[in-house]
Amino acid sequence: MHPGEHLEELEELLGPAGVLTVPSDLVRFTEPYRGAPGPAAAVARPRSVDEVRDLVRWARRHRVRLLPQGANSGLVGASTPPAGAGGSGAPVVVSLERTAGDPLIDPIDRTATVTAGTRLSTLNEKAARHGLVLPIDLCADPSIGGMVATNTGGARMLRHGDMRRHVLGVRAVIADDDASVIDELSTLRKHNVGPALTQLLVGSSGALGIITDVVVDLGRLPDSRSCAWVIPTNADSALEMLLHLERRHGEWLEAFEVVSAEALRSAVAHGAPAPFGPEVVPELSVLIEFAGDAPAEDRLVSALGHLASQGLLTEALVVPADTAWATRHAITEGLRGTGTVLGFDVSVPRPALPAFRERVRLAVAAIDPDALVADFGHWGDGGIHCNVVVPGMATITPDRSAALREVVLGTAVDGFGGSFSAEHGVGPGNADWWYRTVPAPVQRTINSLKRTFDPLGVLGHPGLPFG
Ligand SMILES: Cc1cc2nc3c(=O)[nH]c(=O)nc-3n(C[C@H](O)[C@H](O)[C@H](O)COP(=O)(O)OP(=O)(O)OC[C@H]3O[C@@H](n4cnc5c(N)ncnc54)[C@H](O)[C@@H]3O)c2cc1C
Repeated sequence: MHPGEHLEELEELLGPAGVLTVPSDLVRFTEPYRGAPGPAAAVARPRSVDEVRDLVRWARRHRVRLLPQGANSGLVGASTPPAGAGGSGAPVVVSLERTAGDPLIDPIDRTATVTAGTRLSTLNEKAARHGLVLPIDLCADPSIGGMVATNTGGARMLRHGDMRRHVLGVRAVIADDDASVIDELSTLRKHNVGPALTQLLVGSSGALGIITDVVVDLGRLPDSRSCAWVIPTNADSALEMLLHLERRHGEWLEAFEVVSAEALRSAVAHGAPAPFGPEVVPELSVLIEFAGDAPAEDRLVSALGHLASQGLLTEALVVPADTAWATRHAITEGLRGTGTVLGFDVSVPRPALPAFRERVRLAVAAIDPDALVADFGHWGDGGIHCNVVVPGMATITPDRSAALREVVLGTAVDGFGGSFSAEHGVGPGNADWWYRTVPAPVQRTINSLKRTFDPLGVLGHPGLPFG
């Protein structure tokens, strides 16, 4: 059945502004951050839980696939329709943007109750008025529902954990016979009543339910923040610095971001501040952030002095936090300007980080001597955004791209016991590695949960392994 045949009925349910069909209106919902756009039959924009339920019932009636979407900043291709699946296969994108609202902050409880379409920036602006924050930091502005569905990590995960650690409760509509509402929207931290479906929805990539509301645990906004860019003596000393900072200053250490020369060069070429001056691009540099209630800078300067006395670094510059992060946050865009970027979000056990970098460079060079490995990332969590950049835009064939992908993911997973998806979640972009690495009994159990939540298979991207 072609979904287009039933759009009038959908419009009756959601109102004229609730369904977009004009091609130019659909563009921002169908273009992924990375990869090729795909056709949508329409974009549905429900405003309430009841409208989401109507939409799910409609989709079940007509066997139309619904693709939930928040801010469309996901990086694994799960929030936009697959390229080429037009006609009867085209899904309806479900944008939660019209659910965006005013977060309800309880400053005594240190919680926020937020609708799914609300952006992280909106939540944090309001939370800041109470001296609070959802301490997940990334250089995008995702929706809270999308953050739950992907289990966002970010640069401060080292200290504050990922989204999973902050979610206290979720309300979601599943696609069973009743379009049931799973209502676990509790603000309680202590609520130990058996298995929690909330946690199942974290990282579910839109395949188990459409999240409509979320309760998050907020942190205290620190009074003081201080950053430094540091040149470690080598990769091993970067790890030693991390250990020392955790041991001696763990309650201050907010971020430990390690950046390769290739990644730093591209950020600076993109116009970002050059931390060590335009001429100096070290093999590795580290952005360290301290935050706390006393002047963080005093503490950071004394920690850096100790690291220098141990011979672990050759240069350290305290930099205003905004300037320091401007460089770090410019890397992704900077790389896009330098060539064809194959982005891999991998993790390995922390002791393996230096060896992983070395081995992956050798493996990539063996396939394509022109390709650059421009890695950067959250070493504190063992995470590396291991980008392979092929200079120029038209030099990479599908075979070569597949070979490069195989060596990067294979080196992380098979070589060092790491993960093919450190923090961006699962989507069609990395589904093959899900099949390859997730144990068969786990796959079977997840698939049987999927059949319970969505027996007709109308939810989520069709290319998801559990879609
Ligand atoms: C420049 C840049 C930097 C980034 N840095 C990081 C980083 O450091 N760490 C990190 O973890 N991620 C990072 N990301 C990835 C991205 O921002 C996160 O994955 C984010 O959580 C996605 O949220 P979103 O609202 O944009 O979701 P979308 O992209 O709209 O959707 C992502 C997935 O969630 C599902 N989904 C969305 N909303 C709902 C809902 N209400 N109910 C059910 N399912 C839903 C979608 O179907 C899809 O599967 C970055 C992205 C960019 C562009």
